[in-house]
Amino acid sequence: MDDLQDQRMDALVEGIVRLSSGDLSARLDISPARDSIDAVISGVNLLAEELEVIYEELEQRVQDRTASLHAAQIELERMAMYDSLTGLPNRTLLRRRIDDETLAAARGEQSPALILLDLDAFKAVNDSLGHSAGDDVLIEVGRRLNSTVRESDVVARLGGDEFAVLLPQTSDKVASEIADRALAALRPDMIISGTSIRTLASIGVRCGEVGQSGEDMMRDADTAMYVAKNLGRGNVQVFHPAMLQATHDRFTTLEEFRRAVATGELRVHYQPVISLGTSTIVGAEALVRWQHPDRGLLYPEAFIGIAEESGLVLEIGEWMINAVASQLNSWQDILTGRDFAVRVNLSAAESRTPGLVGFIDRALAKHSVPAERLIVEITETSVMTDQVASTESLRGLRELGVGVEIDDFGTGYSSISYLRKLPAQAVKMDSSLIEDIAEDPRQLKFVAAILQLIEAAGLLSVAEGIETADQARLLTGMGCNYGQGYFFSRPMEADMMAELVRSWPLTWGIASPRHVSPTVATNHRA
Ligand code: C2E
Ligand code: MG
Ligand code: MG
Repeated sequence: MDDLQDQRMDALVEGIVRLSSGDLSARLDISPARDSIDAVISGVNLLAEELEVIYEELEQRVQDRTASLHAAQIELERMAMYDSLTGLPNRTLLRRRIDDETLAAARGEQSPALILLDLDAFKAVNDSLGHSAGDDVLIEVGRRLNSTVRESDVVARLGGDEFAVLLPQTSDKVASEIADRALAALRPDMIISGTSIRTLASIGVRCGEVGQSGEDMMRDADTAMYVAKNLGRGNVQVFHPAMLQATHDRFTTLEEFRRAVATGELRVHYQPVISLGTSTIVGAEALVRWQHPDRGLLYPEAFIGIAEESGLVLEIGEWMINAVASQLNSWQDILTGRDFAVRVNLSAAESRTPGLVGFIDRALAKHSVPAERLIVEITETSVMTDQVASTESLRGLRELGVGVEIDDFGTGYSSISYLRKLPAQAVKMDSSLIEDIAEDPRQLKFVAAILQLIEAAGLLSVAEGIETADQARLLTGMGCNYGQGYFFSRPMEADMMAELVRSWPLTWGIASPRHVSPTVATNHRA
């Protein structure tokens, strides 16, 4: 071999060493000789070329895989931290942020405040308009809440119809203001699948204190929210320690109430129902009362909520049906030949109870009461919660001859055309509808239109909560069939009711009310 060849062999060996050490960019020069060594060099160069391409491809694939793994990890974290429907932070993320803020407060920063919101009557939206409409409402609520707070505040959805707003470093005053603002933001109607819906919320506010844990903050805001819920729709309550006592009291009330049903502390009061055209009594509504050994006479608002939550409402229902049937039996003589029926309120749970029709049938038979003497009142929202079961029960009751009236009409989302499909004969307008008819001409027109629709649907109309002569006169003029309210009489004990019926025929001059008797007129709420 000559020198030149030696040099080329050396270069070839060196090139192969570089390539095998990982330098895939190494290439060898080809000599003008184009001999067999050059052929080997070309082969090595080609191999190097190919190796480099394969290597680059591999590297790209590893990069791609790493990137998608990373994206999946971010998505997993997002899913674990955010609510998929609204895109808002969820309970887990909120808890983290609360802990961050309470820790910062412990280091001397200003304390955060926490607002919890629970939508009122959201179930009615879901039940009457469907779940996708319900979803739209939740999304809109999240959007409205976000638009009322600062960028640094955290709006979260805790699940169901519960939302929260965490306000870092916020004074008590500002926290209450923001809670009020959040409620105001919910107030304007939303148009969801062509229906106008108003969704208010019960709101609890917990203003932060140094040394408070995130967990305590959540618990206290929840307690305040619970208090707000019990005070009725669209209410804001700021936590104060006495509320913990109130929660404790609820448990005591529940325990006592459990006993009350068994030990005979329940009472029935009767409020007359008047035929507006003839000003005569056509019946009464039976309203439950609790004669508490220490607290005196309690009204449903003090216990019906816990009775519903605990299921005790079913026992109240059975007790009421029996008590009313027994009462009707003892009124037999004074009712003979008179058009008189007692209305009993049915809770949503009762209207779904499979044995309801049989139970009522037996109670009426046991006390020898004709079915026409009994009417059940059921709220439009409770029919909505389980349409099939409750419609079946109502139909069964109608077959027995028991009357059916829809109560509190105007507080839910049902339409008259829907009510027409129910086996009901009458619709009772909620008192909130008629409250302002004497002062607000637009409300008067609205009620007139509702009355016309009720009539067109072949149903009778009842107005409840009539408190003034003006309201009675206007409703009578608009053709409303029946009326009930303090203007005529407050609810009263059975004996007084009997006295009232005995003094039949009794008429109230619509223009100048003549109260039944001084005893009745003073039977006011404590
Ligand atoms: P409701 O069925 O709508 O009954 C009408 C309520 O309005 C009664 O309150 C009655 O006392 C009150 N009221 C009557 N006239 C007037 C008026 O002129 N002005 C005002 N502001 N209020 C008037 P009460 O007795 O406190 O009952 C409240 C609710 O508790 C009832 O509303 C009903 O939903 C429920 N309830 C009452 N008794 C029973 C029962 O036996 N079973 C069930 N499940 N619920 C009952
Ligand atoms: Mg009622
Ligand atoms: Mg009502």
